[in-house]
Amino acid sequence: MEGLLTAPGATRRILDKHGIHAKKKYGQNFLIDKRVVAGIVQAAGVTEEDCVLEIGPGIGTMTQALARAAGRVVCVEIDTGLFDVLADTLEGYENVLVVWQDILKTDIRALMEKENGGRPFKVVANLPYYVTTPILMKLLEQKGCFSSVTVMVQQEVADRICAEAGSRDYGAISLAVQYYARPDRVLKVPPASFIPRPGVDSCVLHLEARKEPPVRADEGFLFALIRAAFNQRRKTLANALSHGFSHEGRRLSREEVTGALEKLGLSPTVRGEALTLKDYADLSELLK
Ligand code: SAM
Repeated sequence: MEGLLTAPGATRRILDKHGIHAKKKYGQNFLIDKRVVAGIVQAAGVTEEDCVLEIGPGIGTMTQALARAAGRVVCVEIDTGLFDVLADTLEGYENVLVVWQDILKTDIRALMEKENGGRPFKVVANLPYYVTTPILMKLLEQKGCFSSVTVMVQQEVADRICAEAGSRDYGAISLAVQYYARPDRVLKVPPASFIPRPGVDSCVLHLEARKEPPVRADEGFLFALIRAAFNQRRKTLANALSHGFSHEGRRLSREEVTGALEKLGLSPTVRGEALTLKDYADLSELLK
C-alpha cells in the first residue's frame, strides 16, 4: 500500500514504479502540490455526509485527500492504463469506487441514482484542459445532479467564466455558467504544481449550483440566442442573430431583432458582448 501522493517525490516514484508516462491525449498533468490539494478539498466544503464525484482521478492524488474527508468518492476515469496504479495508491481506501468511462458518455443521473441514492454529488476535478468546456457544460445541464462543482481549469478559462458583460473575456460560457451557478475564484495555481508542467497558469473555481435560475426564460431559446450572438461576436447583435439564429425551425429577421432591442432601450447597433444575462432573457421572451 502506497502512502500519500502529496509527499515530496511520491508522484515521480509512483510513475516510475508502474512505468507510467503522463498521456497528452488525455490532458494528464498530475498534481504534486500538497497546498493546492488541501485548498481544493477545503473549497469544495467536503464533509463525511457527502458523496463526491471526482472526474479524472489520474494516479489518485486528490482522491486520497477526498476519501479522507468525504463519506464516499465515486471517480470516473477514461484511461484504463491507470488501473494498476490506482489499485496501488487507493488500496485501503474502502470508500472509493472507480468507474472506467469517458465522463462525456457517462449517464451522470443514473450514476447518482445508483451510487448516491439520487442525492446530488459534490463534483471535484482537476479537469483535462482539452475538454474543459464540454465537461463543464454537460455537468451544468444535468440540473439536480450536483450541489457544487470545484474544478481546476486554465486561468484563461476561469477569466472567461467569471467575466462580466462588456469585458473582453465575456462570452457564451460566462453566461451559461452564471445561469446555472455562482462562480468564485478560489486559488491561482502555477505550472510548478504539476508533473508534467502545463504551459499555462491554472485556477481553482468553485461553482455553487443555483436552486433557481436568476432569470426567467425558455432555456432552449435563450441558449440558442446566446450561441448565435457569440458565434459572430464582431457583428452587431442584429446581424449575428438574423444570420446565425435558428431554434426549432424559428429564424429571426433583422427588423424583429432591432424592434425588440429598441423595446428594451438598447441600441439597434449594440454588440452581443454588451448584454447581461437579464438582457438576453428579456430579449428571448420578446422574440420567442
Ligand atoms: N486528478 C488527477 C490529479 O489532479 O493529479 C489527474 C488530473 S489530469 C489533469 C486529468 C485526468 O482526467 C486524467 O487522469 C485523465 O486521464 C482524465 N480524463 C481525461 N479525459 C477524460 C474523460 N473524457 N473522462 C474521464 N476522465 C478523463
